[in-house]
Amino acid sequence: MDGNSDMHDAQILIAGGGPASVATAIGLRRLGYTVMLISQPRPFSAVEGVSDRVLQSMKSAGFHQAIKTLAPPSPRNVTWNGLTSAANTEHLIERRLFDEALLQDAETAGVRVIRGRFRHCQAVTDGWQAEAESAAGESISVSGHFLVEARGRAAPAAKTTRVRSSETIALLQRWRGPADTPLAHSAVQSCADGWAWMAQLADGSRYLQLAVDTRITPLPAKNQLTDWCRQRFEQLHQAHAFIKNAEPEGEVYARASTQILCEDLIGENYIRIGDAAMAVDPLSGNGIFQSMSSALQAPAVIHTLLQKPENTALARQFYQARVEGLFYRFARTGRDFCRLEQQWPESEFWASRCHWPDDQPLHLPADPQQVEVARRPVIKNHLIEEADVVVTPDQPLGIWHVNGIELAPVMAQIKEKTQPALKTLTELFGEARGKMLGDWLKGQGLV
Ligand SMILES: Cc1cc2nc3c(=O)[nH]c(=O)nc-3n(C[C@H](O)[C@H](O)[C@H](O)COP(=O)(O)OP(=O)(O)OC[C@H]3O[C@@H](n4cnc5c(N)ncnc54)[C@H](O)[C@@H]3O)c2cc1C
Repeated sequence: MDGNSDMHDAQILIAGGGPASVATAIGLRRLGYTVMLISQPRPFSAVEGVSDRVLQSMKSAGFHQAIKTLAPPSPRNVTWNGLTSAANTEHLIERRLFDEALLQDAETAGVRVIRGRFRHCQAVTDGWQAEAESAAGESISVSGHFLVEARGRAAPAAKTTRVRSSETIALLQRWRGPADTPLAHSAVQSCADGWAWMAQLADGSRYLQLAVDTRITPLPAKNQLTDWCRQRFEQLHQAHAFIKNAEPEGEVYARASTQILCEDLIGENYIRIGDAAMAVDPLSGNGIFQSMSSALQAPAVIHTLLQKPENTALARQFYQARVEGLFYRFARTGRDFCRLEQQWPESEFWASRCHWPDDQPLHLPADPQQVEVARRPVIKNHLIEEADVVVTPDQPLGIWHVNGIELAPVMAQIKEKTQPALKTLTELFGEARGKMLGDWLKGQGLV
């Protein structure tokens, strides 16, 4: 070791420090692992929005400091297919503040956080050896038994096959104007070759973002991008309130926004989580939610690989199927939203998005005749185990529990008895619980 280099090890090494990384790191600490996380701040300033539901999952993930950086819920105006509505609200997030607070949450949970760049790593006999560079430029050697790749869209993927949607890029420009509204607000508007998202914070800063496909919309030279974006926003009525008396600040930053699913998600001693595993369309406004969804399952998967290697194949199957299922569900939701935009049937931007990833409906119709009980991997006591679950065409991964009730034995009894399902449920759980479960099963089309 030379004078500038430092050596550290942990059971789990995590590259990157966004919401997926920190949710996984805290989950692994709760299981008793030593965890080291290496992250550098994102190189641009961005604002994003999340719903109340995401705020709740952040609370249970242990993001106590991070949620303090979220703005109170603010109105979101949407102009889509020529119609304007203001039904939704969202919490705006300044990502740099949020990401730094996430690292503090990780530290509070006992995670060793190194603020610096994860440079490269290689497999060694008992795990991984990696090189990082601290914010002060010192080189750091780190090692761990298990590697979690959580560098978001920046994660290297050269050796991985990937499913990709039409190429999309979001041109992000910060603007500065008077702090003329006490409440933050945001807006979305579609246009012939893309869509725009705009946000204003209470301090007067504004973030304007235009998503286009550069194969369809040619961009000007870099030094003309700010003017080009200004002209584009001047044509959008939702943008007027954001650019009035305001001026662009700094340069336009291009954020890759193509939807991507990595096919190689998990091995015996590594896993990809969050955007490094699958990145959804920013149009959904659900990226943080989906990245946390894959991350919340990762601790049990990693725990199984390390503590119960005989279940390795099961754990990999569990994770792979869940991430893929989530990706296609988000992709089809985005496709259906694009189908609602019908003002520009000739536009290649919209046409390509109306049929990707496929034409399969978001939900397959429920049919009680197709309900089956099957063995599938589930999370049981923080480990991936096999259990009897109820499988339907729309829920191929299976439903294990509903409100704490194991469903497979209940469905077996309903099938066995030649009486109305509700009668069987009342016999099993009493009137109130039986009715509640009966209503749920009916709503899902299972009975
Ligand atoms: C244009 C655009 C708009 C979006 N808007 C929204 C929105 O409104 N709402 C929403 O919910 N989602 C939105 N998203 C999606 C959201 O940003 C991501 O889905 C989410 O942040 C993914 O979390 P993550 O933890 O997987 O990765 P990230 O949040 O990307 O975290 C990865 C971290 O790793 C760090 N890192 C990268 N490389 C290295 C390295 N070599 N060494 C060390 N650290 C490294 C990065 O700096 C970053 O801090 C948007 C995405 C885009 C592209």
